[in-house]
Amino acid sequence: MAARSSRLSLALLLVLGAAGLCAAKEYDFFYLVVQWPGSYCDTKQSCCYPKSGKPAADFVIHGLWPNYIDGSYPLNCDPDSEFDPSKVSDLLSSLRAHWPTLACPANDGVSFWRHQWDKYGTCAAGVVDEHDYFQAALRLRDQLSVLSALTAAGVNPDGGYYTLGQIKDAIQQRTGFEPYVECNRDKSGNSQLYQVSFCVDPAGDRLMECPVLPHGKACGSRIKFPAFLLLIFSPS
Ligand code: 5GP
Ligand code: 5GP
Repeated sequence: MAARSSRLSLALLLVLGAAGLCAAKEYDFFYLVVQWPGSYCDTKQSCCYPKSGKPAADFVIHGLWPNYIDGSYPLNCDPDSEFDPSKVSDLLSSLRAHWPTLACPANDGVSFWRHQWDKYGTCAAGVVDEHDYFQAALRLRDQLSVLSALTAAGVNPDGGYYTLGQIKDAIQQRTGFEPYVECNRDKSGNSQLYQVSFCVDPAGDRLMECPVLPHGKACGSRIKFPAFLLLIFSPS
């Protein structure tokens, strides 16, 4: 009897220990990555506007990505947890406005949100469910107001050129957090402001200083901030 109960306690300890380890190992923080639609479109690859129409000229969400403090990250954590649009039905109009897809062919965005949930969101699903994951990204994007931070410092999306220091200082002044700035190249090969990343606590509640900076494409010494204009020709 005594041997049986000690075996049971040992099994219980092992189960609890494993659960604790899993909870602790889940991930350490998120990167919230926002993209400038003008720079996504102003490349050799071009872009398509989503079926709901041209998004406003503002930074939009690319993703909310779980990460470990050693710089590594989990991916595709649960093939059984498929993206379910009905779980975010109250968020759909905000997702269309602030997390639109600019990839071709033009579509309603569901495949982009599904890709983000399957690849990244499922790795946070033990902490935030599908609804809270998308809601957190939308709320944090609103809170950051990256475009107003830039324009308040005279960094305008007008095709002009700025330094990395000007861009980072403008964002840090307003948001209180050092961003990571990533650039891509326009059709003529000029370095341009493409993505800005911030760090978020594992619950998706608060912005925090980044424990480790992400990897991304470098920026040139002169960084173009292109306008987000209407496409004259849509390749869809
Ligand atoms: P990620 O790098 O986030 O894992 O994957 C991006 C994927 O989402 C690519 O396959 C890309 O074509 C697709 N995608 C669809 N719409 C967008 C968009 O608006 N921006 C970006 N960056 N990728 C998009
Ligand atoms: P530092 O450690 O002096 O801040 O930066 C080292 C290098 O990383 C420099 O070449 C600097 O331009 C680059 N760097 C710093 N912050 C960023 C950033 O947000 N984005 C990019 N692309 N490079 C950065």
